[in-house]
Amino acid sequence: MNVFWFRRDLRLIDNTALSKALLTKSPTLPIFIFDSNITDELPVDDARISFIYQQLEKIQTDLHKNGSGLMILKGDPEEEFVNLIKKYPIQNVFFNRDYEPYALARDRKIEQLLKSKEIAVHHYKDHVLLEPHEVLKKDGLPYTVYTPYKNAWMKKIELNKIVCSNSLQFDYFFKINTPFPSMKELGFHKSSIEAKPYSLNIVDKYHTDRNIPSIDGTSRLGPHLRFGTISTRQIIQSLNGNYGTENQFLNELIWRSFFIQILFHFPHVVSNNFRSKYDGIQWRNNEEEFNKWCNGTTGYPMVDAGMRELNETGYMHNRVRMITAGFLCKHLLIDWRWGEAYFASKLLDFELASNNGNWQWAAGTGCDAAPYFRVFNPMEQLKKFDPNHSYINRWIKDLQTFDYPAPIVDHKMARERAIAQYKKGMLTN
Ligand code: FAD
Repeated sequence: MNVFWFRRDLRLIDNTALSKALLTKSPTLPIFIFDSNITDELPVDDARISFIYQQLEKIQTDLHKNGSGLMILKGDPEEEFVNLIKKYPIQNVFFNRDYEPYALARDRKIEQLLKSKEIAVHHYKDHVLLEPHEVLKKDGLPYTVYTPYKNAWMKKIELNKIVCSNSLQFDYFFKINTPFPSMKELGFHKSSIEAKPYSLNIVDKYHTDRNIPSIDGTSRLGPHLRFGTISTRQIIQSLNGNYGTENQFLNELIWRSFFIQILFHFPHVVSNNFRSKYDGIQWRNNEEEFNKWCNGTTGYPMVDAGMRELNETGYMHNRVRMITAGFLCKHLLIDWRWGEAYFASKLLDFELASNNGNWQWAAGTGCDAAPYFRVFNPMEQLKKFDPNHSYINRWIKDLQTFDYPAPIVDHKMARERAIAQYKKGMLTN
């Protein structure tokens, strides 16, 4: 028999490793493991866990209708496999590849364990259209600048030839009757925060609407791509060659791939600056100011609206992510790692590669990053991207009251202080 291990590919349709497992015609037991190494670090009502649980329920419903079921486990994945091997005559394990450092190490250990028990392991590309080793420079080294990466990516792939596997052989699922556990039985509580459904109808106006946070002008694909409720192939197929003006929507999907390969090839970025020449920056790391940033009480409406949107919904618009991140690193001179960790704890679409890559971009410490002397003026950003104040009024209920705080820092002073500190940090390095 086969085991198919769901991870960040929570769908039955167009799931590469699952299709391959079923093609063997050997009974396939689908499993999902709530990895306690990850979940133990999260609050029991974490919105990502609720999102995953909902997707698993949908999968279970479809499998159940067809006489099968999904096995849900919780614990250390290696230990869970040890138990499974004892209970079932497993010959093959199938899964889709994950490129994050933790997942790579975990998968290596599990592969060793399975092979030591003479169980074959089959893993596949699924999460991305092109894997990190598939887009390299002529000298075999990875790209560290987005535009040449994008050009090489485009050359490597014929998007109109991408096919999805839309059928599923339900007959070959292993018949199990283990009950589907409730969230409570798993030790979780349902979150009040839910992911919005995605939409691809935004593509035609994406080039203009994507920068206006008061408009639903972006796809909201984030959590769906993160947990694989839709495949990138399905997205490309649905778009049918329309990737927006100057391919702008496609470009964003390529940014996602770009950061996945950066994290894969340069895993030091998880806790270090991509460019070590910035290691000498003396961050101020004022905790009181950090708390004001987290709570959305900096007195800069565009920053505060973004942080309040994030805290209430698990989402923040991309333009506002850039403004809030820049503000933390430059205006407050707080280490980007603090902001990155806060976003990681809140974002429904939290993805280590994209979060880290974008934070380092905002801090100016990353690959292909904004230059260190570019300091967004949050008031100018407000004029440009929320001219009629719809966005800030939506999220800051006390904006017109005396309760709303005065700016915690003067823009001109903060800008000069940041540039001076960055210069000094680079020189002393
Ligand atoms: P759309 O604009 O509709 O884009 C479609 C998809 O393209 C996104 O879902 C995403 O997968 C990808 N994409 C878009 N912009 C980027 C980008 N700049 N970098 C990488 N991929 C991109 N994105 C995450 O998926 N996870 C994160 O943890 C994350 N953290 C971020 C932190 C900061 C400081 C910043 C500035 C950006 C971050 N982003 C992150 C990128 C971007 O903000 C989100 O992908 C986007 O806002 C999600 O909304 P959407 O799905 O409607 O995006």
